[in-house]
Amino acid sequence: MPKLRCVYTDLKDHSKRTYFLLMVYNNYMELKFVISKQGLFITALLKNADIKGWVDLQNTLWDKYRLGYQLLQGNSYNVFITETSQDVLEKAIEEVKLLMEEGMKTAEFNKLLQTAQEYKKWLENEWLINKEKVEKELKEIIRTDLPKDIFTVYVMGNLVHIGRHLGDHKVVWGHKEDWPNYSLVYLAHEYLHSMFSYSDLDHAVIELIADNELRIRLNQGGEYFTCNGKDVGHDNLRELEKSMLPAWSAYLYNKSMDIRRFLVDQKAKIDNPEK
Ligand SMILES: [Zn+2]
Repeated sequence: MPKLRCVYTDLKDHSKRTYFLLMVYNNYMELKFVISKQGLFITALLKNADIKGWVDLQNTLWDKYRLGYQLLQGNSYNVFITETSQDVLEKAIEEVKLLMEEGMKTAEFNKLLQTAQEYKKWLENEWLINKEKVEKELKEIIRTDLPKDIFTVYVMGNLVHIGRHLGDHKVVWGHKEDWPNYSLVYLAHEYLHSMFSYSDLDHAVIELIADNELRIRLNQGGEYFTCNGKDVGHDNLRELEKSMLPAWSAYLYNKSMDIRRFLVDQKAKIDNPEK
């Protein structure tokens, strides 16, 4: 079913401009790309950034604002388990503010931000050019409707490596292109997380769909589980994925089956291995 999207159209009504809300059919996966400066800083702080001097900056901020840093890390034990815990939350929050103010003023963060802005332009264009193709292939693989919502992609650039689905149609993405169409494949992967659970089985199926089948279709060649000499997908899911390969190949040929049915069958096989 096509998606409905609201757009305003500007119809000039003599001297007065009148705006009409039109409902327009939209057949494409809708991704909106944005940069959250604070989100970029915190992600880089917690996950590292491929920038000269970044580790030194992390160390400086760690030495100066340890309590705030630990709060950002989610290290509740170190923050709160203390004999004098009354003021600890206020102090930690104050340190988070100071840490962020100081960190976001640095040349290192400025470079990170500039790179992310350039990468965002590239990624938006990459998506614009290819989204029709990605959607067509995905629909062909899963044979069910795609979500109708607009997804927000928080762009982190290619110096911070992260791919995550945050829920509520929000995705975090930043990575260098390890192989052709890398970002497209993983944008699809994160997008698919909104349609499935976080069980290993569902995650393995997402990897069969996006990391492998979609990648090979977009690249017009390649093989499952490896690309440019690198392993593809999570190591802990590979065995499960390999065990599903015969059924997966049959599924790809059997156009009357959709991905939901495939998952139900695979789950039944796991629950009743004897049958
Ligand atoms: Zn995933």
